[in-house]
Amino acid sequence: MEVLRGTAVAPGIAIGDVVILEAEDYRIPFRSVDPEARDEELAALDRALAASLRELTEQAVRIEEHLGRDAAKVFDWHSGVLSDPSLRENIEKLIREKNASAAYAASTVMRGYQRRFMQMSDPLLVERIRDVQDIERRLLRHILGESREDLAHLTKPVILAAHDLSPTQTAQLAETMVVGVVLDTGAATSHTAILLKSWGRPGVIGLDDITTRVSGGDTVIIDGSNQLVITNPDESTLVEYREKERAFLRLTTELDALSDLEPVTKDGERVHLYSNIEFPREAASGIGKGADGVGLYRTEFLFLRPEGSPSEEEQYQAYREAILGAGGRPVTIRTFDLGADKYTQEKQYEQERNPMLGLRSVRYSLQHLDMFKTQLRAILRASAHGSVKLMFPLISSLMEFRQAKMTLHDAMEDLEEAGVEFDRSIQIGMMLETPAAALQVKEFCREVSFVSIGTNDLIQYLLAVDRGNERVSRFYTASHPAVLRLLRDVIRACTKSDTHCTLCGEMAGQPMYTMFLLGVGLRHFSMAPANIPEVKKLIRLLKMSHAQRVAKRALSFDTDRQVTNYLRDETKKLLPEDPF
Ligand code: PEP
Ligand code: MG
Repeated sequence: MEVLRGTAVAPGIAIGDVVILEAEDYRIPFRSVDPEARDEELAALDRALAASLRELTEQAVRIEEHLGRDAAKVFDWHSGVLSDPSLRENIEKLIREKNASAAYAASTVMRGYQRRFMQMSDPLLVERIRDVQDIERRLLRHILGESREDLAHLTKPVILAAHDLSPTQTAQLAETMVVGVVLDTGAATSHTAILLKSWGRPGVIGLDDITTRVSGGDTVIIDGSNQLVITNPDESTLVEYREKERAFLRLTTELDALSDLEPVTKDGERVHLYSNIEFPREAASGIGKGADGVGLYRTEFLFLRPEGSPSEEEQYQAYREAILGAGGRPVTIRTFDLGADKYTQEKQYEQERNPMLGLRSVRYSLQHLDMFKTQLRAILRASAHGSVKLMFPLISSLMEFRQAKMTLHDAMEDLEEAGVEFDRSIQIGMMLETPAAALQVKEFCREVSFVSIGTNDLIQYLLAVDRGNERVSRFYTASHPAVLRLLRDVIRACTKSDTHCTLCGEMAGQPMYTMFLLGVGLRHFSMAPANIPEVKKLIRLLKMSHAQRVAKRALSFDTDRQVTNYLRDETKKLLPEDPF
């Protein structure tokens, strides 16, 4: 038995046998065949192409049903590549002219495609490298007929162990019998972690070498609530965790019953809880969990697809779906936050040296004005269908906010001239995610309709710790006294100037910080829908005067460890049963 610590993406317990998604490529048994076997190889290729296409079509249908059209689109591109006659021609040529085996020929051709994508300088195409790798693996699986576990055809619940997961693989999890995920790589606020969180099952990431510490078929326990993974547990640990699993299920049922109740403190203060979403369909499911609306719609996920930027019409349809899903409640749409961990992270691509400090977010938008304006027009058009707010990410100076707002006004003029309907009084806000913006919050409050504090980034820039790097994740904490003080000052400044203020970083969904945030005056929290019930439960058990006392004490400590221990103990007093 081994107990490993990593970073949890969601609470809860999962117990099961492990399936390892191999990081290695398929081993190709032989490169060449006898000339008389060429026809057999060609027949094997055709069977594999047909089977791959069939599989992709089935998967696209299932994903569309569960996650919507946008999530399914990636499979259309895979199908397009596989059904392109030139792919078959190129593979056939190698088989006929070089006596290559079908597997070797297919792999060689697909590697050629990967190299071509690697040489392209457009970062939008970088994501395609992974897709080409996905396609290669699928094709090889069918050619070689290897009996490697296919996630779509699992017949019993399993824990998935992998080095890393691509967005395609993560989106597919909802369709499988995978009940938990453990990964070698990743940190709490990385792109994959955000997608895993919306999947909602327990997961622990950033474990370094979990894929080498377990073998397929080993029993693994994921304790998402305590960020632990236990491999090959002994009998008593297994019994203990089966009980914890039952307790967690009871708690989830109890929490689900809270969805119709309001988040009101014991002394009658109404707090607002919104959902963070990545796909438009999640707007409605967040409301089902009791959200007051969408506090953060991360629109860049629309762009992270193989076929490149979505058109204005496609974006309009997606935003409209989210707005209608929210059923009249406010939807805060953030303009695309591309770059850094959400775009240029592929190892194969020549990266910026410091992508987190590089051309990302609103900086990227302002250098790609056509793309930016297309999105702004789509958001404005969608604003005619409900209560929409718009915000710009990673604002670091007033000039930047003004420039983004000017671009929005240009888009408004375009629409006005064309006689297209939109909400002329749409609220325009900023994400406060840089220390510079925090220090200038008073000036910003004079110009913005609202502020949304993005602590995921704010913490990384304040503490100088990359949010996606598991090697430094122990330095990344919202409990750092400097973080608490900065948040207090920002929230106070917003309250004083009567500027609507939401916090939408991961911290908003962590019950441990709920009292502190309420105590310093925050009333609007936006979080992954799965976190809403627990935070709501805590709010309903609290008096505001108590939260204020807790906040004051938390601010008196010198070290993050003291803060964490104190906030954890205080939260535990109110939620003794709950893991958080
Ligand atoms: C944040 O930085 O806190 C945030 C909510 O935005 P994202 O996680 O998408 O960067
Ligand atoms: Mg951010």
